[in-house]
Amino acid sequence: MAAMERYDLIVIGTGPGGYHAAIRAAQLGLKVLAVEAAEVGGVCLNVGCIPTKALLHAAETLHHLKVAEGFGLKAKPELDLKRLGAWRDQVVGRLTGGVGTLLKGNKVELLRGFARFVGPTEVEVEGKRYGAKSLILATGSEPIELKGFPFGEDVWDSTRALRVEEGIPKRLLVIGGGAVGLEFGQIYRRLGAEVTLIEYMPEILPQGDPETAGLLRRALEKEGIRVRTRTKAVGYEKKKDGLHVRLEPAEGGEPETLVVDKVLVAVGRRPRTQGLGLEKAGVKVDERGFIPVNARMETSAPGVYAIGDVARPPLLAHKAMKEGLVAAENAAGRESAFDYQVPSVVYTSPEWAGVGLTEEGAKRAGYKVKVGKFPLAASGRALTLGGAEGMVKAVGDEETDLLLGVFIVGPQAGELIAEATLALEMGATVTDLALTVHAHPTLSEGLMEAAEAFHKQAIHILSR
Ligand SMILES: Cc1cc2nc3c(=O)[nH]c(=O)nc-3n(C[C@H](O)[C@H](O)[C@H](O)COP(=O)(O)OP(=O)(O)OC[C@H]3O[C@@H](n4cnc5c(N)ncnc54)[C@H](O)[C@@H]3O)c2cc1C
Repeated sequence: MAAMERYDLIVIGTGPGGYHAAIRAAQLGLKVLAVEAAEVGGVCLNVGCIPTKALLHAAETLHHLKVAEGFGLKAKPELDLKRLGAWRDQVVGRLTGGVGTLLKGNKVELLRGFARFVGPTEVEVEGKRYGAKSLILATGSEPIELKGFPFGEDVWDSTRALRVEEGIPKRLLVIGGGAVGLEFGQIYRRLGAEVTLIEYMPEILPQGDPETAGLLRRALEKEGIRVRTRTKAVGYEKKKDGLHVRLEPAEGGEPETLVVDKVLVAVGRRPRTQGLGLEKAGVKVDERGFIPVNARMETSAPGVYAIGDVARPPLLAHKAMKEGLVAAENAAGRESAFDYQVPSVVYTSPEWAGVGLTEEGAKRAGYKVKVGKFPLAASGRALTLGGAEGMVKAVGDEETDLLLGVFIVGPQAGELIAEATLALEMGATVTDLALTVHAHPTLSEGLMEAAEAFHKQAIHILSR
């Protein structure tokens, strides 16, 4: 028998978490093997972040042409869905190719196949064994199926919903008011579908700040998306005129029927741990299927790390990436811990973004909470861009003036949240944010003015 191949580190999965871990480990001098069962780049590049953002951009460009009629731009746009699909694939292909090149350029060995543990620090891929001092599990997640709605031709997961070139249904029901459901709801609405979106909780984005989430909901409703909160879907029947979906109030009660052509289930994702042979390595899994880790990203098994969606929520690419760096640094003998603020963004238009503590969360943590708000209707830049929907909201501690959280709904919210994240990382006070000179006219001024409003000194709105 051939000798088993040995590495310093084996990374399982090449999504955002895995490729970050592999590259950082190689930069630190480790001999690294990366194993990938499907496409390099994982969910984010192939069927997640990137293709959805491409479709959202196309849908927004189309939508802006309508808004532009207001300043005299007349056009009769026609969107060729086949071309759109090809462009989406081209963007994905370029980025996944880029990751492949980066792995190679960093001398990370890439192996195609499904890896499973056969010993504490040994895996088998396609019948061959590979050993390493350390292993990083970055196997990601997959869509959760909803009871009564098994995935199929009429019930889509997010991956199927990406294929707009196969036709836009006349009537679409989106189940789930998280980022994925909202983004697809808007894509399909803007490409011509009648969209109903249902959310079980009292407001969309239940983990976020309800005030800014409510503003986003109203903006989506203005576009004709019917948003139903406190509502659940319990099953459906296929009839001649479409799918008859049974909806009920969240607490139960009087059911009603909604007739649609397709259903998109976007109720969440579950960690991918099946078939990995984790018991062989002594890696524990919690009751929700996640692999518990400490701040160093270590699992219950010595030398085995877990990162990204398979480790813990929030299921976000940038979180997976940073965790990958932390795990790789520890595998290389450094002392590294994950202790960061993680922003989250919804790429609808207007966008929604948040970082840090909500008012509710800050109260629970014992702060004397105060907020400062700045509506974009008072932003010169927002008006010149043709839309003034949204606001910036800063949450702070009244006693120490410490900034605790920022929530934004409006154009470019996802770009603006980076400043708020840096402010939190630097321990900025609300005054620090207010004293920073922001270029005029920019949307970013909203952050400064929200900080000024916190002290009842905003210039472009009246303080009450
Ligand atoms: C529609 C959609 C849109 C999204 N948009 C955003 C967004 O805009 N921003 C954002 O931050 N996040 C977004 N996400 C979430 C983001 O995609 C994930 O958080 C991210 O991909 C997680 O990275 P990961 O490295 O943990 O795992 P994944 O990206 O899931 O990658 C895991 C990889 O491991 C491979 N693998 C699994 N098991 C094995 C095995 N045993 N052997 C070998 N290989 C294996 C898989 O094939 C896969 O390639 C979106 C998700 C979806 C579904």
